[in-house]
Amino acid sequence: MGNAHYQFWPNRVSMTITVPETTLYENLEMTAKKYPNKKAIYYYGASFTYKELLAEVNALAGYLEHKLGAQAGDRILLYMQNAPQFIISYYAILRIRGIVVPVNPMCTTEELAFYIQDGQIQNALIGQELYKKIEPLKERTTLEHIIIAAYHDYIDENYIIGELPPEVQTAAQEYKTDHEWKWIMEEGLTPSVYKGESDDIIVLPYTSGTTSLPKGCIHTNKSVQANTIGAFHWATYTPNAVSLAALPLFHVMGMIHCMNTPIYGGSAMVVMTRWDRDNAGLMMQEHGISHWINISTMLIDFLANPKYEQYDISSLRLIGGGGAAVPEAVGQKLLQLTGLRYVEGYGLSETISQTHFNPPDRPKMQCLGIPSFGVDARVVEPVTLKELSPLEEGEIILRGPQLFKGYYNRDEDNRDCFVEIDGETFFRTGDIGKVDEEGYFFIVDRVKRMINASGYKVWPTEIETILYKHPAIQQACVIGVPDPVRGENVKAFIILQDSAKGTVTEQEIIEWAKEQMAAYKYPRIVEFRTSFPMTSSGKILWRQLQEEERTVSEV
Ligand code: AMP
Repeated sequence: MGNAHYQFWPNRVSMTITVPETTLYENLEMTAKKYPNKKAIYYYGASFTYKELLAEVNALAGYLEHKLGAQAGDRILLYMQNAPQFIISYYAILRIRGIVVPVNPMCTTEELAFYIQDGQIQNALIGQELYKKIEPLKERTTLEHIIIAAYHDYIDENYIIGELPPEVQTAAQEYKTDHEWKWIMEEGLTPSVYKGESDDIIVLPYTSGTTSLPKGCIHTNKSVQANTIGAFHWATYTPNAVSLAALPLFHVMGMIHCMNTPIYGGSAMVVMTRWDRDNAGLMMQEHGISHWINISTMLIDFLANPKYEQYDISSLRLIGGGGAAVPEAVGQKLLQLTGLRYVEGYGLSETISQTHFNPPDRPKMQCLGIPSFGVDARVVEPVTLKELSPLEEGEIILRGPQLFKGYYNRDEDNRDCFVEIDGETFFRTGDIGKVDEEGYFFIVDRVKRMINASGYKVWPTEIETILYKHPAIQQACVIGVPDPVRGENVKAFIILQDSAKGTVTEQEIIEWAKEQMAAYKYPRIVEFRTSFPMTSSGKILWRQLQEEERTVSEV
C-alpha cells in the first residue's frame, strides 16, 4: 500500500495546515520587518530589498487612494508582463483593500473591454507597451485612470544579465493624460491605516467555461493564504530559497508559486519579463536558483537548448509545475541530466492553483499527485455523482480551504459548478481522472470543452462566437488536436456560406482570426467541411470531430 503518510483511503484529508486569519498583504509587511535588507527581487541584474519593495507598495497605494480615489472593494485591472511593477501593483491594490483583476497581457482591446465592463473597473495599472490596446477604452467603458509602468525604470544599465526583452528595452515614454509610475514613486504618498480582513475578496482571476463568457473567480485572503502557505510547506521556500519567476504572474500558478509564496517565506524572486531559455540558464547560474516552478513547454524548450550544458544549474532543488501534463520523455531527460524528478501538481483558477501535488521525495511521473493540505478530492461518476473505486475513471470533484467563493456575478454558473454530497459542498472540476491505490490522482480526459495549449486554456465556445462574426462563415466547431510541444493546438472546422465558397481560403480565415483574439487562442489550423456530425436536436457533435482527429494523429 505504499507510504502510509500519503495514503489517504479511507481518511479523506490526510494533510492539514492551519491557515492563519492574516491577510496576504500582511505577509509582505511581516517579511519586510523580519528581513528588511534581504533581496526580494532580481531583475535582469538589478535588485531590490524587501524594505524597498514595501516602501514602493505603500507609495503606490497612497497614490491609488489619495489621487485616484480608489477604495476598499474596488476592482483594479492589472495588465502587465512580469516585472517588479507587477508585484508592487498587486500588493498596493491589496494595501488599499482593493481587488486585483489580473489579465493576460496578450488580451486584445475587445477582451479588455469585457473585463472592464464585467468588473465596472475605473482604474488600471499597465505596462507601457500595452497602452495602445487599452487607451481607446477610456471613451467607451467605465475606465477612468491608467497608471503606466515602464519596466526599463527598474533595470540597472551598468549591470544587465542576459538579453533584455523588447518590452524592457524602451525607457518611459510620455503619456500626457495619464499617470506615470516615476512621479508616483517620487511623490511617496502614505495610505491610510491598514485594516484588511481575512474574508476580504482580494483577487478575481478570470477563466472561461461552458458558456462563451469569461468569469472571475472570487478569492479571498483566506483562499489565497491557504495555497500560499500550502505551497510554502510543499516546496520549502526558506529565506535562502531563490525562485525563478518565469511563469506569468497574472495566472494563478505564477501568482502563487513565483510571487506570493516567495514573499511569504522571505525568498528572492528572479523575475523574467519574457521566457527565454538562455536568459533562464544565465539567471539560474548567476543567482543560484533553487526553485523553478514552470509549465512543461518551458522545460521542453530549456532542455532542447544545445547550449544547455554551458549553464551551471546545480543549485536547483525543486523543478515542478502543473497546468498541463509533462511528457514522460521530458521527465526522463530531466532526471538523467540533473538527477531531479519533475514534481507535478494540479489545480485550477477556481482553486487559486494547487489542490494536488506530488510529494517531492516520492513523485510519480505524469501524475497530478496527492490532495494538498486540507483538500478532500474524490472521483465520481459524472451523472450519479457516486464515488468510484481506485483506478475507475470519473469526474474529479473537490473541496478545501483554497476553493473560490463562486464566479463573480454569475448565478447560473454558480448553480452548475457546485454539488452537495454528505452535507458538504464540492466543486466539479470538469476533469476526468482516476486515483490509484496509494491515493495519487491522474488526469485522463475532460468533461468540459476546454483546450489546453501550452497551459493556456482556450474555450471553444468563445472562439466560435468570434468566428461567427466573419461574413463567410456559416458554421464553426473548434476542437483541440494533439501537438507534441504545445500539448494541444486549436483547430477550427468551418462550413462556409454558399455565397463565400471559393472566395476565401483557410489561411485567410487564420489570418483574420489572429487579429480578433489573443495570440494563444486563434486557430492555428482551419479545415473547411461541407457538413458536421449532428445530434438529433441539432447540436454539433464536437467530441466526434475530436475523436476523428485523435485517431488520425495516432495512425
Ligand atoms: P486554469 O484554470 O487555467 O488553471 O486551468 C485549469 C485546468 O488545467 C484544469 O481543469 C485541468 O484541465 C488543467 N490542468 C491543471 N493541471 C494539470 C496537469 N498537471 N496535467 C494536465 N492538465 C492540468
